[in-house]
Amino acid sequence: MSIAQNITQFNQSLPLEVKLVAVSKTKSNEAIMEAYQSGQRLFGENKVQELLQKWEALPKDIEWHFIGHLQSNKVKYLAPFISMIHAVDSYKLLQTINDEGRKIGRIVPCLVQFHIAEEQSKFGLDPDSADLFFQDVDLANLKHVAISGVMGMATFTPNTTQIDQEFLKLKNLFEVLKTTVFSQNTGFSEISMGMSHDYQQAIRNGSTMVRIGSSIFGDQNDTP
Ligand SMILES: *Cc1c(COP(=O)(O)O)cnc(C)c1O
Repeated sequence: MSIAQNITQFNQSLPLEVKLVAVSKTKSNEAIMEAYQSGQRLFGENKVQELLQKWEALPKDIEWHFIGHLQSNKVKYLAPFISMIHAVDSYKLLQTINDEGRKIGRIVPCLVQFHIAEEQSKFGLDPDSADLFFQDVDLANLKHVAISGVMGMATFTPNTTQIDQEFLKLKNLFEVLKTTVFSQNTGFSEISMGMSHDYQQAIRNGSTMVRIGSSIFGDQNDTP
């Protein structure tokens, strides 16, 4: 199937309340434009340099989401245009995003990443220390970030029971935060979870945003 057909198929099959982030990392501008011509406007990238090149070259009504691990010293490059930063996993990063947002008068939407997988290598905050994390965060003074929800990745495993448990953990954490820390904040509404191989499970467990790469663009990389 073509990229255009894949986009159409996702749009027809995803529930209305679930947003599709087309993960275009390593894909060419031509591939992105094919998705764009099919109506897709929301794209996800995980490398700052690559994203900057694409942002400059491609239509300005694309909403770019940064889905990778972000270093504080690179926030300034994204702050002027990024639509959402998915993987905030430290107070320092949150403060840096706030500082850069303030400098240019923007409020930058962010998700807090939690480590729900059993794998060691993945980034994110420990769900069990979410309380502690938000105790330290002075939300009232972070006027240039909008914490819009949570993000997580399940373990890469054929064990679907385990994947369900991990997604459910993130969903439950979201619900707790929504009724406590963010009870006055209607903008806290997104759960970014689910990739090509597990997005259906993620949706069954409450995802509002799926990040799909290979099932739209195929497996091969256009750029090294
Ligand atoms: C690459 C990537 C995806 C998309 O993965 P696919 O398996 O190609 O759908 C989703 N989320 C993150 C954080 C990624 O880095």
